[in-house]
Amino acid sequence: MRIALISDVHANLVALDAVLAEEEGLGAEAVWNLGDTVGYGPDPNGVVARLAEVGARSVLGNHDAVATGAMDTAWFNPLAAAAAEWTRSVLEPEAADVLGGLGEVLREGEWSLAHGTLRDPLREYLVTVEAAEGHFAEQETPYSAVGHTHVPLVVRRDEEGVRGVPPVEGEAAALGEGLLCVNPGSVGQPRDGDSRASYALLDTSAGTVTHRRVGYDIGETQRRMAAAGLPEALAERLSRGR
Ligand code: ZN
Repeated sequence: MRIALISDVHANLVALDAVLAEEEGLGAEAVWNLGDTVGYGPDPNGVVARLAEVGARSVLGNHDAVATGAMDTAWFNPLAAAAAEWTRSVLEPEAADVLGGLGEVLREGEWSLAHGTLRDPLREYLVTVEAAEGHFAEQETPYSAVGHTHVPLVVRRDEEGVRGVPPVEGEAAALGEGLLCVNPGSVGQPRDGDSRASYALLDTSAGTVTHRRVGYDIGETQRRMAAAGLPEALAERLSRGR
């Protein structure tokens, strides 16, 4: 079975639609969404509706929790806080109900899904060996997937310890022995210097994961952000992938 692994869509419907079109063309039968579905971008209601249409399985992200009022914006920088306020003001009750009903950790067969880490799903970034050790200590399945950093990565834990492996675009990597954690990068606001939408395709029968990038109409998303009155710096960073 092929599964599209997506994260950090951040209300960027144009980017999400580009990713969905590609993964469907590649035969994906399911979508697993690692959170931060809204926040920053111009189409929070449209993104929540589209993910429901495709039957995506989703976990809660910190931006989603802020959008529903479950978390405050104390941890946010001023631009993120402004975008969060805007998101909260336009979020329709139906979309707020969907986000409010999401759990922080989801188990799907051999996979555990969370936004940040399994140890601290809404706050922690899996970017250090210490955070990875804490994450794997909570992992009861062979494989896991997280987002939150907006940077694609594969982290492995075996006899030799923990190591992060930057994925090679388009290359099917074996899931392998030992514990594994996949970060598919961000659909709606990549931060690794590549402005294209980022996601990963799992093939559970072949036992592989392939990181992929998809170009989309960034200008259209930026126009929608301007029309919504969202901070210009948030629109501009989409062009740089930072
Ligand atoms: Zn995010």
